[in-house]
Amino acid sequence: MIPFTLTHETALITGASRGIGQGIALALGQAGATVIGTATTTEGADKITQYLKEHSLTGEGRVLDIASFDSVNTLMTSLEKQMPTILVNNAAITRDNLLLRLSQEDWDAVINANLTGVYRLTKACLRAMTKARHGRIITITSVVGVTGNAGQANYAATKAGVIAFSKSLAKEVGSRGITVNTVAPGYIETDMTKKFSEEQRAALLKQIPVNRAGTAQDIAAAVLFLASPTASYITGETLHINGGMFMP
Ligand code: NDP
Repeated sequence: MIPFTLTHETALITGASRGIGQGIALALGQAGATVIGTATTTEGADKITQYLKEHSLTGEGRVLDIASFDSVNTLMTSLEKQMPTILVNNAAITRDNLLLRLSQEDWDAVINANLTGVYRLTKACLRAMTKARHGRIITITSVVGVTGNAGQANYAATKAGVIAFSKSLAKEVGSRGITVNTVAPGYIETDMTKKFSEEQRAALLKQIPVNRAGTAQDIAAAVLFLASPTASYITGETLHINGGMFMP
């Protein structure tokens, strides 16, 4: 049984069509929150509405491209009467390459979605949280935002960036009842990691003391905790969830 209740909360979760975001949407919904989950397409948004319905949860899917100011504005305008009290910045992209081959286009795309996207949506949600004197902002970073990773200079820079962003914001809004934290997954089985070769998979598993890849549910459990009233004294923190792969 889930020991955390989120009744009367509205949770906005980006990238909820699959993977970790879907796991978070289900966990927060099962704890009683109204869920607004986003996808980049209407089909993805419909899929979110559908799975919430299948699990008898309150909420729906919406379209959002985190890389676009217009898209963020359109979403926020549509939410005017139901402003989120919980924001989970989960959506992110990768465009991996060694730096010598990393194009400016791939650099810009990753910074714009993963870092500027977090700035855009967080800022858009902040006024209502400040007014309500209550809010939870949780951003999904990554173990590589702390360790670095060859071939991911752009992605790792954004993941380190959201940690510093969150610490800074935590200092700005702590007195308003708003906490700002990050969750740093290690190796989680989702579409993002499906492209790993068997060799890469085996090498990663060797580094994980608990001897398995993580699941979306492993990450969702931590997000649920940070979103709950139980975690009201935790802010500016990064919770590492990686089966012991990296211990800061
Ligand atoms: P997936 O690639 O499986 O899913 C990505 C999600 O983000 C999808 O819902 C996708 O929507 C959405 N998305 C992609 N681009 C945009 C955009 N421009 N605007 C809005 N939404 C977008 O990712 P994961 O579930 O694996 O990852 C979730 C988070 O966890 C990310 O922040 C990732 O960096 C982080 N993470 C993941 C790890 C892993 O091992 N999987 C490890 C460490 C961190 P759509 O379906 O419409 O494309």
